[in-house]
Amino acid sequence: SSYVIKTGNGICVTSRNVSTLKLNEQKLLEVNDQLKIQNQILKDAKTIAKIGSYRWNVLENELELSTISENLYVLLGCTPDEFKPTHENFKKFIHPDDLIHYNSNLKESFENQTSVDFTYRIITKNNKIKHFRTIGNFQENDLLGVTQDVTSQVKGAQKLKEKNQELKRSNEELESFNRVASHDLQEPIRKIQMFISRIAETDLDKLSDKSKDYFEKISSSSERMRMLIRYLLSYSRINKSSKDFNIVNLTEIIEKVQEDLDTRIKESGISIIMDNLPTLNAIPFQMEQLFNNLLSNAIKYRNTEDPKIIIDCKKLKRSEITDDFIKKSKSYYRISVLDNGIGFDQEHAEKIFELFQRLHQNNEYSGTGIGLAICKKIVQNHNGHILAESEPGKGSSFCIYLPA
Ligand code: ADP
Repeated sequence: SSYVIKTGNGICVTSRNVSTLKLNEQKLLEVNDQLKIQNQILKDAKTIAKIGSYRWNVLENELELSTISENLYVLLGCTPDEFKPTHENFKKFIHPDDLIHYNSNLKESFENQTSVDFTYRIITKNNKIKHFRTIGNFQENDLLGVTQDVTSQVKGAQKLKEKNQELKRSNEELESFNRVASHDLQEPIRKIQMFISRIAETDLDKLSDKSKDYFEKISSSSERMRMLIRYLLSYSRINKSSKDFNIVNLTEIIEKVQEDLDTRIKESGISIIMDNLPTLNAIPFQMEQLFNNLLSNAIKYRNTEDPKIIIDCKKLKRSEITDDFIKKSKSYYRISVLDNGIGFDQEHAEKIFELFQRLHQNNEYSGTGIGLAICKKIVQNHNGHILAESEPGKGSSFCIYLPA
């Protein structure tokens, strides 16, 4: 750039090299452009995240004369700059029931110069109630912070809590219904069986052959009903009480189960192999019941040739488990009970754990359809998971996860 000044009858020309100045100006413009872009991105982000920001000046212990971001106006149902951004004006939007809570939170943070983080309700210009969460920090005489509209999160959490309570209530109802029903059904069935045996003792020969046949059917049906009720009652009695938990050696438990099933094991000629079984924290008699049911099934649904049961265990970290269930523990024992029996179609693998679900008819294999439901309840009691894999004719494997 050059300056020309007239001096007497001549001129004075001053020239200056301004290339660095020009370069700096250029740089400034570029930075300015970038800032504009950043600002726009921030603005969009605030809208999407339903976030607004604010800055309150602290004057004589009062918050005053301040700035409110555009989006905070929008969150309040207003157009930007619709009202003067004083703290007094802002507080008019706060739900009357939450005003004391709001004031005391701010006061406490200010007095202790700690950061602000709390949730309160506001009423927007068009009378909608919203939940705001505010996070801020005092910096000398300013409170700088952001406010987020967390209404959907608060409502979602509330709904979830209600649903949970509802679920818990209906579960409790179902359990007590089950308990009462199975308990009350015991009495009439006892009477029926008593009268059946009286007739059998005294008058059975007076019946015609056809009636004798019917009588036999009544007798066996009532016996089945008694068994069903008994199992149902034991199902409803499976409970989790922390005082029942104890150190359990699974090898010892399964050896005991084998003793209980001794006759059936000998009759069927089944061989049982176990390996790597752990010692864990569990309810001993429920572990016994669990493996009793699984082994009984493997014996009952065996194949005629060389029947076998293999029980094995592996310890896995939570991250190594691909099966889908809620994992609260860091590691789990994966206990598998494998047989080479008749198996079943994989599509029934979940159904068989439901109450009274059976895949085989009574005349083929006797049963109640409660055994695996009991297994599932026991495993859930232990914060574990049970699943089955099978193929017809190829045997079944039952896999149990228990917290290690
Ligand atoms: P139940 O044996 O009294 O019928 P369970 O609840 O123990 O009742 O089992 C449900 C069903 O799952 C059985 O009826 C049977 O069809 C199937 N099942 C269970 N265990 C096995 C197994 N080891 N092999 C083949 N099928 C099985």
